[in-house]
Amino acid sequence: MISLHISLEGKTAIVTGAGRGIGKAIAKALAAARAKVVVNDVDWDAAAQVSQEIEVRGGIAKPAKADVRVSSEIVQMFQMAVRELGGIHVLVNNAGIVLRKPAEEILEGEWDRVIDINLKGTFLCAQTAAKAMISEGKGGKIINISSIMGAVALPPRAAYCASKGGIINLTRDLAAEWAKYGIAVNGIAPGWTVTEMTQTYFSQEPVRQFLLERIPLNRLGKPEDIANLAVFLASDYSDYITGQTIYVDGGWTIL
Ligand code: NAD
Repeated sequence: MISLHISLEGKTAIVTGAGRGIGKAIAKALAAARAKVVVNDVDWDAAAQVSQEIEVRGGIAKPAKADVRVSSEIVQMFQMAVRELGGIHVLVNNAGIVLRKPAEEILEGEWDRVIDINLKGTFLCAQTAAKAMISEGKGGKIINISSIMGAVALPPRAAYCASKGGIINLTRDLAAEWAKYGIAVNGIAPGWTVTEMTQTYFSQEPVRQFLLERIPLNRLGKPEDIANLAVFLASDYSDYITGQTIYVDGGWTIL
């Protein structure tokens, strides 16, 4: 009998936007696989709470308040990870915001905010992680959270769709550039997943019915559905995969 067991023992992971929702589930799943986890968020209380939840269950975690748009804050967070948790082996770029608004009404500042957090934030964190991984010389895993809306549109979300499509091709470029350093860069594109970001939207019964009728697996996603793939992509089991974005969407994008 062959038994598979994913262990991330000895690895340190940073998860951005991990104070709630999908990022929180990813941080907890990585910790359950024995990684040491930096729980990042702009919301310090939320990050500290998740970090504490992990430690209560016997895991190792540290909260880190940093805005993924701000290089100096990101660098400080990575320095803390190296100093206090022994290096940086896995980065999950999860922090993101959504904007639902007709394209002709989006203000310049609103456009910039979505692109800055979702796309520029992903790049800045990936770049900082890669510098640390290159100087350490042991490779690493970078996982970028995109969306089904990186591949298909569901109006009115122009800035969001642009940012998430950008992440998918950024993932390919970074994977190609950093393969020689043993750094794998992959993406996860969640479908409709129940979190604080989406629960008000899903609580409208007509919206919920519309979505369920179009999801082949006929249910909304759970944060844990995304976290399971993140653990696999962070582990040695995915060592020959790079530059790919995998859709965890109950089949939404196959139709
Ligand atoms: P959420 O709003 O519940 O959580 C996002 C977290 O990111 C929050 O804790 C927030 O404080 C943090 N954050 C926001 N801006 C930040 C910044 N500048 N720096 C650091 N942290 C910041 O969202 P979620 O539903 O858990 O989504 C997580 C990711 O998954 C996002 O990138 C989102 O676009 C993506 N996604 C979600 C869904 C879904 O249906 N929920 C679907 C596809 C993709």
